[in-house]
Amino acid sequence: MGGKVSSLTRIIGRLLAVVWPFLGIVLVLLLLGEHSLQSLAGARAYISGNNIWTVAQQQAVTQLRRYATTGDPAAYRAYLHQITVHRADRRAREAVLATPPDLPAARAALIEGRNAPADVEALIGFLQEYATFAPVREAVLLWLEGDQRMTELEAQAARLNTEIQAGRRQGEAASKALASIDQLDAGLQQIEREFGYKINDAARRLQQRMRWIRLGSALLLCLLGLLLSIRAVWRQLAVEQALRVSEERYAVVAESANDGIWEWDIGSGKLYCSPRVREMLGYSEQELGFAKQLVNIMPPDDFRRGRQQLMEHIEQRRHDVLSRSMRMRTRDGRTRWILARSVTRYDADGQPLRVAGSYTDITAQVENERRLRLAASVFEAAREGIVIADARDRIVSTNRGFLALGGHASGALAGRRVQSLLAPGFGRSMRREMARSLRDNGQWSGEAATLTASGETRPIELSIVAVNDEVGGLAYRIYVCRDIAERKYAQARIQHLAYFDPLTALPNRSYLGANFDAFISTARKHNQPLATVFFDLDGFKQVNDTLGHSAGDQLIRRVAQRLGEGIGEGDLLCRFGGDEFLLLLPGRDAAAVECLTADLLRRIGEPLLLEGRMLNVTSSAGYAMYPEDATDAESLVRDADMALYRAKEHGKNIVERYQTWMSAAVSWRHDMLANLRHALTEQQFQLRFQPVVDASSNAVAGVETLLYWKHPEMGVVSPNSFIPLAEESGLIEPIGEWLIDAALAQFANWRAAGLPRFYLAINLSGYQLRRAETFQQQFIEAVERHGIAYADVVLEITERQIVYDSHASLPVLDRLAMRGIGVSIDDFGTGYSSLEYLKDMPVTQIKIDKTFVHNLVTEVGDRAIVNAIIGLGRSLGVKVVAEGVENAEQLGVLRGYGCNLVQGYLYSPPLPAEELAAYVRSSVPVARG
Ligand code: C2E
Ligand code: CA
Ligand code: CA
Repeated sequence: MGGKVSSLTRIIGRLLAVVWPFLGIVLVLLLLGEHSLQSLAGARAYISGNNIWTVAQQQAVTQLRRYATTGDPAAYRAYLHQITVHRADRRAREAVLATPPDLPAARAALIEGRNAPADVEALIGFLQEYATFAPVREAVLLWLEGDQRMTELEAQAARLNTEIQAGRRQGEAASKALASIDQLDAGLQQIEREFGYKINDAARRLQQRMRWIRLGSALLLCLLGLLLSIRAVWRQLAVEQALRVSEERYAVVAESANDGIWEWDIGSGKLYCSPRVREMLGYSEQELGFAKQLVNIMPPDDFRRGRQQLMEHIEQRRHDVLSRSMRMRTRDGRTRWILARSVTRYDADGQPLRVAGSYTDITAQVENERRLRLAASVFEAAREGIVIADARDRIVSTNRGFLALGGHASGALAGRRVQSLLAPGFGRSMRREMARSLRDNGQWSGEAATLTASGETRPIELSIVAVNDEVGGLAYRIYVCRDIAERKYAQARIQHLAYFDPLTALPNRSYLGANFDAFISTARKHNQPLATVFFDLDGFKQVNDTLGHSAGDQLIRRVAQRLGEGIGEGDLLCRFGGDEFLLLLPGRDAAAVECLTADLLRRIGEPLLLEGRMLNVTSSAGYAMYPEDATDAESLVRDADMALYRAKEHGKNIVERYQTWMSAAVSWRHDMLANLRHALTEQQFQLRFQPVVDASSNAVAGVETLLYWKHPEMGVVSPNSFIPLAEESGLIEPIGEWLIDAALAQFANWRAAGLPRFYLAINLSGYQLRRAETFQQQFIEAVERHGIAYADVVLEITERQIVYDSHASLPVLDRLAMRGIGVSIDDFGTGYSSLEYLKDMPVTQIKIDKTFVHNLVTEVGDRAIVNAIIGLGRSLGVKVVAEGVENAEQLGVLRGYGCNLVQGYLYSPPLPAEELAAYVRSSVPVARG
């Protein structure tokens, strides 16, 4: 109901808006007509009023004449009755023209004046309105004049009455009064005529005036109406134009837009689809003519859901836009994702009329979203750190991988510049290179470093890909980074291994090679000396060979530590190889170097506990000075090495400076090694035999085989010089094999020649015992081959050797001893003073080292040692040999201590085989004697 009312008022409103000017015009014309009619009616009323007035005046005059002639009081009363008309009209005029006008009085007076009551208002209105209108004003003046005559007439009447009453006015008097009355009457009639003319004139002129006013108003109103009509037409045109534009716009949008437009008329069920919808889905107008046909082109679920949403929307009488997405099958069988948006129109009673909306093909978008979701899960799950930054390089998002890599809190990085996360070490040129590659190729990859949340630098392998927007501008940058800290660490390790010695953590020879020149150039620049010091442990090989490699390693570490503790800040200590250390000492002169090196040697030489044993390891050192001795790295190292060699030769545990002549010595050593290789094939080796004599009988108890090298140019070379060389070079094995064979052959010869019985001692090197099986086999084979009794052979092995390498030498010696072969501990007392091994060893003989014998007469301590060793031998039941006995005093002391076997120059130097035979023969009688 309310709806109907409101639509009605709407229609009336619209109507009024259109017709009000015309209504206004009609109203104005009506008012004008009414006004002119009223004015004319006023004029007419005055004319009739004039008639009444005139009639009344004539009656009054008639009656007065009759009164004058007859003296009839009835005539006088009739006169008085007529005269009231004039009096009332006069009062009415005065009441109207008074200020303010007294209209009720005027009305009453006019009625009294015998005017028609219907004319009263017209009379008042006319006089009020036109009092100043010229003909009316003139008429009023005439009226005033009339009033004056009437007053005179009344005065005449009053006089007449008085005289008649008095009885005096009869005859002549009456005729005089009549004459004056007639005169007044004539004047009044004149005035009345003129008044009538004036009023007529006023009416005529008013009529004319009204005509003009009407004409003028009509003209004006026509003009106004025209203007308003033009305006209305104009507006209509504008509305039509706007409508046309909007229709065109709609048509353009409907036809060209990506969106298809549709409208469902609910009443008829008809569906209108724009061409774009049909194009989108490929159906004809008939195939999509009704909404219910949609069920054919949509999956049931989608159709049901979409319809339900729409129905709910309509039931709730909603006017807003409803959006829903659904799948639709195209005519050629493809599935498209469609976004449907619609609004519903209802009638005044709220009944739904139409649903209009659009279809948008969002297939690409849905696919895109799916891809994005996939990308997002890849993004999150990736082990690599991924950072997405916008074109201004501000971080848009980071994945968990990246947060974990840098230890960042989630959300802490948003909006930060990616560059601020790259370590400062990532230089400007690198950044430029990166920017250039990104610009030209859209990508960059390489190694960089990122700053972690705690400010540490972490190496990463970084790939950057630029993602452009549709118009080719940079939209995003994707940074993918892999933590390569571990790889870097491994690289650094490898680098370290390449340049540092894993055992001691000292720089190695390669490191030295890479840095030596820098030391030299610094020294040159500052005009300072630079010392190159070489250290080499004394007897390290034996430690290594006898105590095992782990002990050797431990020793090297300890020595490195001791060396490191003794040097200064700018000094460079390297492990040169094996037991060799090289020290670069910048800025110290030779005296300071000598002093420091001596201190280092002292540090090394301090007793040290190794695998439960106290060892006294010493080192030798040699050094060369830059620039006096040499100016390049290679020469400095070579010179220091030569000096070291000299130090070794000079008795070890000392330091030597390089001197020019050493070059020759070293080259000699060098040459010697070369020569030694040929010595065997060239048969330059000789055997000499030194007798071991029974001190009490002077009989030869045995002979010690000593190896000599007779070089064609160098002459006889001492075994002390070449045995270490042979051991180092491995030549000791073939040499040893040859020696054993030669010595046993010689021994067999002596036997055959009938020489008295004595044993044959052979020196063994630790190197020979190391290859135990081979050695044992060869040795036994040789003994057997030459038909020699095992009991006649003694193997000499140094105490040092046994201490260092008992587990290598012991089993062999044990097995040989079981066959009856004697075992002699050579150089006894120079080892490590540990007698423990003696219990476990198949020892048959101890040889007191010549140094003790040498000092026997002078040194009380050595005498005590020798005495103790002899006592020990006796208690163990082994023979004791004193070697290096050179004089009778020594022999005397030894005899005093009960040492029976002696060896030395006092009896005989080592002798060639024939001479030895002669010596044995010559000594026999003494022995027997
Ligand atoms: P060694 O086993 O202690 O040999 C004894 C050394 O003392 C020999 O020196 C000998 O000439 C020397 N000598 C003997 N009597 C005296 C003396 O009264 N006074 C002094 N001052 N020295 C005396 P040589 O021949 O120079 O040998 C030196 C070392 O070379 C030997 O010391 C031994 O360790 C080693 N050697 C010699 N021949 C062989 C061998 O065939 N094989 C092995 N592995 N080493 C050998
Ligand atoms: Ca010996
Ligand atoms: Ca010896």
